[in-house]
Amino acid sequence: MHMDANTAAPEDVLKQYWGYDDFRPLQREAIDCVLAGRDSVVVLPTGGGKSLCFQIPAMCMPGMAVVVSPLISLMKDQVDALRSNGVPAACVNSSLSYQERIQVSEEIRSGQLKLLYAAPERLLMENTIEFLQESNVSFVAIDEAHCVSEWGHDFRPDYRQLRTLKRAFPNIGIHTYTATATEIVREDIAKQLDLHEPEVHIGSFDRPNLIYKIERRSGGIKQIQEVIDRHPGESGIVYCISRRKVDETTSELNELGYRALPYHAGMPDTQRKDNQDAFINERCDIIVATVAFGMGIDKSNVRYVIHSQLPKSLEAYQQESGRAGRDGLEAECCLFYSTGDFNTWSRLLNQSGDLKARDVSIDSLGMMLDFCTGVTCRHRAIVEHFGQKLAVDSCNACDVCMGDIELVDDALVIGQKILSCVIRLEQRFGGEYTAGVLKGSQERRLLDNGHDQLSTYGLLAEESQRTIRDWIEQLVSQGYLSRYGEFNQLQVSENGRQVLRGEVTPRLSKPLKKAKKSRSESKSKVAEESWEGVDRGLFDVLRTIRKAIAEEKEVPAYVVFGDAALRDMALRRPTTLEGFLDVRGVGEKKCKDYGEEFVGAISAYCREHDVTADVDVD
Ligand code: ADP
Repeated sequence: MHMDANTAAPEDVLKQYWGYDDFRPLQREAIDCVLAGRDSVVVLPTGGGKSLCFQIPAMCMPGMAVVVSPLISLMKDQVDALRSNGVPAACVNSSLSYQERIQVSEEIRSGQLKLLYAAPERLLMENTIEFLQESNVSFVAIDEAHCVSEWGHDFRPDYRQLRTLKRAFPNIGIHTYTATATEIVREDIAKQLDLHEPEVHIGSFDRPNLIYKIERRSGGIKQIQEVIDRHPGESGIVYCISRRKVDETTSELNELGYRALPYHAGMPDTQRKDNQDAFINERCDIIVATVAFGMGIDKSNVRYVIHSQLPKSLEAYQQESGRAGRDGLEAECCLFYSTGDFNTWSRLLNQSGDLKARDVSIDSLGMMLDFCTGVTCRHRAIVEHFGQKLAVDSCNACDVCMGDIELVDDALVIGQKILSCVIRLEQRFGGEYTAGVLKGSQERRLLDNGHDQLSTYGLLAEESQRTIRDWIEQLVSQGYLSRYGEFNQLQVSENGRQVLRGEVTPRLSKPLKKAKKSRSESKSKVAEESWEGVDRGLFDVLRTIRKAIAEEKEVPAYVVFGDAALRDMALRRPTTLEGFLDVRGVGEKKCKDYGEEFVGAISAYCREHDVTADVDVD
């Protein structure tokens, strides 16, 4: 064990510096592993709280931890956030001036620093390594560790060189952190970095505070607008597949009177950076972006993520939607898809040659589409995709479980009609064509083929062709039908034959009636719980104060306080510094720096609005 008399208890450090009372799942185990000096691979989803897994032990142990991080912009925000909590941290990267570098070296020499963030290329320079070997390095943490693996989605060759760290620092632990769930990447991380019998910790991939809603795209901007309108004054990301679509959507939103900024790789660097900063610093609430946006974003209070088109895989969806609600508060993830998106992706991937990237394939697109058209709990579908089980029966936080999707009563009969039509068509046609036959369409090609003579022609004439199409997709996603060939022809699977024999019943959803307001739009349980007892008026006042402080200090608003801390303040409404220290997310330094201003505003608000102050919630 590395521990000695100087070692502070992780719980005390958590409270004193971060102002939190308890650890999130797996954080404690990951921390103990660092304290014990073992190597480790820690997998937690985005927002799971990976940073504390190395930041806390860095404060507990003597010496200084070295953190490798690929993104310079992220590094600066992390260091700012640590310093605002009173944690002595600094970074070295190519953006530092000579003077700044000298200053960091001084801080290391004098033993003041507890965390040093470095980009891989800077860390691996010979003189940096030598300098650090003479300093008291407690352990090395490698963030975004999937970058070492070419099986991952963001392979960086300079991450491979990190392998030399094990030789350069043979007596200290090397700890790696990633949100990438695939086993192959996990194993590759340990192998590439030459880790010694690493402890592997894998967290749950479920994010209970995310509310998933998935709808077929109805065209136009209306669906996007409805989501944005549910979040006035809150931050959100709208993802599109292509640059062109980003530009189009941004203009449409701006014409409608919203203030949205675009972000994609085709824009000049400076403009892209300005737009990203405007979003992070809350000068603009809506960013419309390709998936190039997000890696460098640590913003914890993104309240919604909209996918205006189909993501390329469930892995990608989990990452991208995971950028919502990192602070643990409720956030909406809305996805609007169309089967045509499938073709858009294929075209794009062929153009960029990206199809070679190992996480993207026609299979992964197919799985994504199946997920969208499926009618099982979204939380369950995601965790099962990653080989895990959902701990609860109903998530209460997706369109399926909140009752937005109602199931039809006669799913067996409908399923049998569809499957027998596929068989009558000799399993040679795609979904659209099959739906046409069942609808009894007068389409030329169908009549030319004589398919109006089939016994299944017009068998579902009373339904809309779109509903029939959705049911076909649902049968595919449940494995009763499969697609093959160039034109996605349908064929009946072995399970499908069981449906035909009446041995199993599929789950088919009723079409969502537009007139009926979806229940999830009114209120989800997750959202209700997190707002319980919170004075919204006071919350808004506190947000304004936070914004002013952030502007003055030139840091992102969430570095001052996260939304969770502000809500807790608006719930407890402390009028003394002692009470302020009880707020989750208020550590000793923040209490000293901002306490008086916030407590003053809270007292004034409570007096003015005749609201009870100093509420005891524990
Ligand atoms: P990740 O790197 O895994 O995406 P972060 O380390 O950025 O996640 O943490 C996400 C958010 O959760 C941050 O705002 C952080 O302050 C908060 N957080 C982390 N651990 C805890 C905890 N034990 N209690 C409360 N909030 C926490």
